[in-house]
Amino acid sequence: MDPVSLESGGYGGSYKLIGGEVSLDFVNTVSWPGTEHAHDWLDRPGNFTVWAVAAGILTEECRNELDARPPTELEAEINHVRQVREDLRRVLAPLASGEPPSSSAIDTLNLLVREILPSRHIDHATLEWTWEAPVTLSGILAPIIWNTVRIVTNSDHTRLGHCPSCNWLFYDTTRNRSRRWCDMADCGSRDKALRYYHRSKPGSTSRDEIAT
Ligand SMILES: [Zn+2]
Repeated sequence: MDPVSLESGGYGGSYKLIGGEVSLDFVNTVSWPGTEHAHDWLDRPGNFTVWAVAAGILTEECRNELDARPPTELEAEINHVRQVREDLRRVLAPLASGEPPSSSAIDTLNLLVREILPSRHIDHATLEWTWEAPVTLSGILAPIIWNTVRIVTNSDHTRLGHCPSCNWLFYDTTRNRSRRWCDMADCGSRDKALRYYHRSKPGSTSRDEIAT
């Protein structure tokens, strides 16, 4: 899977759409969450619009219009986007660990749903149930919040998982539920290398020696 070309600001890793659901990929815009290696890909507004196009929820035309807005407004909006990302993480991360989300996390999700419903409409030409084109970065959140609701209310929670190495979330669509890693090419191969390393160096116990 190819990385999405987000600006890394000097961070050495890459970002990939591996979640299988747009809300999981959104939560995954923090690499190595909860660790000292954590990196926030939404540390700049332009990365969010590039991500949204790659995730299939924003047109290039809309992206150009949004990117051209005043930087001060974009900065305020990306802060709100990051806050909503944490709100959605509080719902999705527990589910991916086999735990129910807290009542307060669901309360917050209910509030977010009420905020986005006015932008839901039936398109005159296509008769599709769709969203109004976003005029702010926060407007891009509507399909992401809606997808979170669908995962909570209408998906097989036992297929939600998280990578044991980097904590990214995913929806396992394999027939025999065998998915373990975010990406075999990254964490999967890193784990293989670690196991090989420990087999060849029986005295070694520190994962950190080669895990970085
Ligand atoms: Zn991983």
